[in-house]
Amino acid sequence: MKNFILKNFHLIKENEQNSIISRVNEIVENFSLTYQEITLDINKRLKTSAGQIKYKINDEQYNKRVIISLSYNYYKEFGFTRILQTLNHELAHLVTLIKHNQGGHNKLFYHYCELLGGSTKYNTNEYIYSKKKWHYECLGCGVMFDMIIKIKNTKMNCSKCKNNITNFKIEKIKE
Ligand SMILES: [Zn+2]
Ligand SMILES: [Zn+2]
Repeated sequence: MKNFILKNFHLIKENEQNSIISRVNEIVENFSLTYQEITLDINKRLKTSAGQIKYKINDEQYNKRVIISLSYNYYKEFGFTRILQTLNHELAHLVTLIKHNQGGHNKLFYHYCELLGGSTKYNTNEYIYSKKKWHYECLGCGVMFDMIIKIKNTKMNCSKCKNNITNFKIEKIKE
């Protein structure tokens, strides 16, 4: 292990700490990733996403200094197996970043994400959906979905049948 900075790792179990570190090591070695420093952070403030990776494309300095944050709240709510999938998602970003200097959820990213067994849904959405508060049902076609915030835009239409949002049945989800 070289040039890893660990933050808040005391929040998770020791065997989980080791799993994360050896997984990152494995990817770094398998893909021969060159970097200056990787910070791994179990982050208590990350509330709207399961994980996050910070870097800047085309910035040689920052490029090699990467911060991967994993949400402590997500870990508590969904357990370690799921946070490992999040880690793999972030590691897919790491590979596309360092090897190809590309960011975002593009085709190449999904290629690596699948290869590494990462969560392919946007992590943020998955976390947010667990916090959904409003249930919407289209009275035109019956399509249903849940939202964390109430839709304010009355010009919105159903993507399936084009029924206007004002003709939706809306219910608050009980917690
Ligand atoms: Zn991502
Ligand atoms: Zn509809």
